[in-house]
Amino acid sequence: MNTELSIADIIRKQRDFLSTGKTKDIAFRIDQLKILQQAIKDNEAAIYQALKADLNKPEFETFSSEIVLVFKEIEYCLKNIKVWTKPKKAQVPWQLLPASAQIYAEPLGVVLIIGAWNYPFQLTISPLIGAIAAGNCAILKPSELAPHTSSLVANIIAKYFQPEYITVVEGGVETSQKLLAEKFDHIFFTGGTAVGKIIMEAAAKHLTPVTLELGGKNPCIVDTDIHIEHTARRITWGKFINAGQTCLAPDYLLVNHKIKASLLSEIKKCIQEFYEANPASSPDYGRIINQKHFDRLASLLNSGETCIGGETNRDELYIAPTVIGNISLADPVMQDEIFGPILPVIEYKDISEAIALINSQPKPLALYLFSNNKNLQQQILQATSSGTACINETVMQIGVSSLPFGGVGDSGIGSYHGKSSFDTFSHYKSVLHNPFWLDLKWRYAPYTKSKLSFLKKIIG
Ligand code: NAD
Repeated sequence: MNTELSIADIIRKQRDFLSTGKTKDIAFRIDQLKILQQAIKDNEAAIYQALKADLNKPEFETFSSEIVLVFKEIEYCLKNIKVWTKPKKAQVPWQLLPASAQIYAEPLGVVLIIGAWNYPFQLTISPLIGAIAAGNCAILKPSELAPHTSSLVANIIAKYFQPEYITVVEGGVETSQKLLAEKFDHIFFTGGTAVGKIIMEAAAKHLTPVTLELGGKNPCIVDTDIHIEHTARRITWGKFINAGQTCLAPDYLLVNHKIKASLLSEIKKCIQEFYEANPASSPDYGRIINQKHFDRLASLLNSGETCIGGETNRDELYIAPTVIGNISLADPVMQDEIFGPILPVIEYKDISEAIALINSQPKPLALYLFSNNKNLQQQILQATSSGTACINETVMQIGVSSLPFGGVGDSGIGSYHGKSSFDTFSHYKSVLHNPFWLDLKWRYAPYTKSKLSFLKKIIG
């Protein structure tokens, strides 16, 4: 944590550094991305420990969902940065010839990245990759609810980067508020929809653009035309990794009534296969982040009737992988994003019921459809709106750097990953260049009749 300097001092120093023009140098950016890559390699063991301490995250999940994702993003960036940073030619209408036009990507400046606690490493470092690639200085504010990871990120960044270039400010809501009182050139926020609104309001005071990576209730539709074992496995995995605390997790199932019983029995088998008879003793099953979230989730267990799981242990912040049936939209579990290992199941008879239900809710971050029926796939994609979507898969869209990742409506504003991260942290400056050798007078006053008729001819 950068304790010696006030937030205003840190920002001033970053602005001074920015004005040296160093971050505009592409070779500098490439070096910094490589330094970040090395920093993560050097600290891999400490990252596992921090995530274990914060979320009981198994090493496998930390590697696959925190470390690999970040490595892949850095590699993708290193491979493409020279193309992304090159000015792009743009077409000029013939009437304006011999002028030429280009689009230049320039850094936004000093950016603020605020992270969430559920993937506390990846959610602060992954946006940072885009900020570096686009030539910005950055201040990171990891989530205070994952304190081990927050302090590790602060130590790593302090060891490998100069604070006038990249630094971490640790702390909770108060620290966030102090940061938000200052003027940044971009704010990249990951968190809940309610806090997203606070961030946008604070940013508006400085006319600062925002990226809001928020959450929502992700529907998962299951049709009858499926491979049932693979469907159950992919849903069980996507829902219960990180004990359901994943922004992309299927929030609730919308299942064709003909297949509901067999799907639930397959999901039950998968839970036993993944976490054995008692998930509480499985080394591969996570814990709820804190007692506040535990209590919130435990109260949702009163909705409907429990089909699978339901066991809890407050002292250990344990909630078993749970599936609940007999649910209606009015139940508490259907009011807000669940963000825990509870999977409500709603039946439908006709797909139009599922579509109507989805469209009656705020737009989600992800929508999942399990069906081999191509017509149904197209129908769902066209009839619904969501930040991202998968067919016959869950959560894995996050691993594709060439897919922009972000929400729509209540699930967010803007996107990142791969080229989208670069775009998010860049301003595209439009440049028109007119040489001196020709200067036709048709656009200058006095506007004679012949000039107007000439203009109508060439533009019409
Ligand atoms: P949160 O909104 O409570 O907190 C996120 C960050 O905002 C933290 O760093 C926190 O310190 C800060 N913050 C909290 N209250 C604040 C306030 N009043 N003013 C200023 N800053 C404040 O979110 P969370 O609980 O950390 O994360 C869970 C949420 O994040 C879920 O809704 C989840 O869906 C969403 N999420 C989204 C993505 C995504 O990529 N879209 C990824 C992970 C999590």
